[in-house]
Amino acid sequence: MKGLLYYGTNDIRYSETVPEPEIKNPNDVKIKVSYCGICGTDLKEFTYSGGPVFFPKQGTKDKISGYELPLCPGHEFSGTVVEVGSGVTSVKPGDRVAVEATSHCSDRSRYKDTVAQDLGLCMACQSGSPNCCASLSFCGLGGASGGFAEYVVYGEDHMVKLPDSIPDDIGALVEPISVAWHAVERARFQPGQTALVLGGGPIGLATILALQGHHAGKIVCSEPALIRRQFAKELGAEVFDPSTCDDANAVLKAMVPENEGFHAAFDCSGVPQTFTTSIVATGPSGIAVNVAVWGDHPIGFMPMSLTYQEKYATGSMCYTVKDFQEVVKALEDGLISLDKARKMITGKVHLKDGVEKGFKQLIEHKENNVKILVTPNEVS
Ligand SMILES: [Zn+2]
Ligand SMILES: [Zn+2]
Repeated sequence: MKGLLYYGTNDIRYSETVPEPEIKNPNDVKIKVSYCGICGTDLKEFTYSGGPVFFPKQGTKDKISGYELPLCPGHEFSGTVVEVGSGVTSVKPGDRVAVEATSHCSDRSRYKDTVAQDLGLCMACQSGSPNCCASLSFCGLGGASGGFAEYVVYGEDHMVKLPDSIPDDIGALVEPISVAWHAVERARFQPGQTALVLGGGPIGLATILALQGHHAGKIVCSEPALIRRQFAKELGAEVFDPSTCDDANAVLKAMVPENEGFHAAFDCSGVPQTFTTSIVATGPSGIAVNVAVWGDHPIGFMPMSLTYQEKYATGSMCYTVKDFQEVVKALEDGLISLDKARKMITGKVHLKDGVEKGFKQLIEHKENNVKILVTPNEVS
């Protein structure tokens, strides 16, 4: 089949001879991919000189699948079911789905040929948080061959059906919006509460949508780049340029009705200033959620900035199937506007052009782009 194959840093190749994945287990589902979004994680795998980050390093195997490079990337995808294993009951050929892409302990049983089977469930998987699995991997990052290809085979448990009202391109956004949805859940966010989103890149914009899906009150997006502020504004957030004043934190705090800080703040940038702001600009008992992916280095932090007003700082790690289901429901019910979600799609390219017009476009023209979707079929 046609696919993009990841061999290592700066080495993704288009191929028309990728082995087509086959149904091997009773719970396998084979999907014909419609659209697959390029994520910041994919870009990191492509560019990071110390990589791979999530993919198995050269000469090592994925802890869940036992697979080695090269493999197809792509974990943000929608498609149509074309074949199912003998035990599959929740989806059938013809159903359109979004795919929850985590791979965790319970997926290991699908790879009897390639990985040891006697490891049991890790503590996180036992406690119902497979997104925090000790062996966490992803379909499209080593856990299974991913969505930059014509076909994917993955477990039934990861399939979330798309209703007729959600088209395939929006279906490919369910994954990034679920990342944000999980973060909003981590903030124990209540209807009417106020939220600060730090950064107007793809994760920040998805967080604005997820907050709207949670009936947020005021949403402010703090972002220094003008084009990104415009995107945030179009999605319905109030915007703020933190580079224009000396004490941005104080100005931000005063932007909520009580002038005392936000109920929740989401760091979608991952720089020391935004981490500090996420704590300082929340009010009493405020919750600061780190959604960004950081490099492996420490930063300065004032513990008393939490203590004085008993604030919380936590992280949010990808998503669960429940997040996917709730995002699909929010899109279906109109809590998240399809038109606003579609504004995140700044390009659609054919699989063959995925590296040149997708990956490289996102790296070289970062500010002008949010999501570029890759499709193995005709681009409409
Ligand atoms: Zn992603
Ligand atoms: Zn686990």
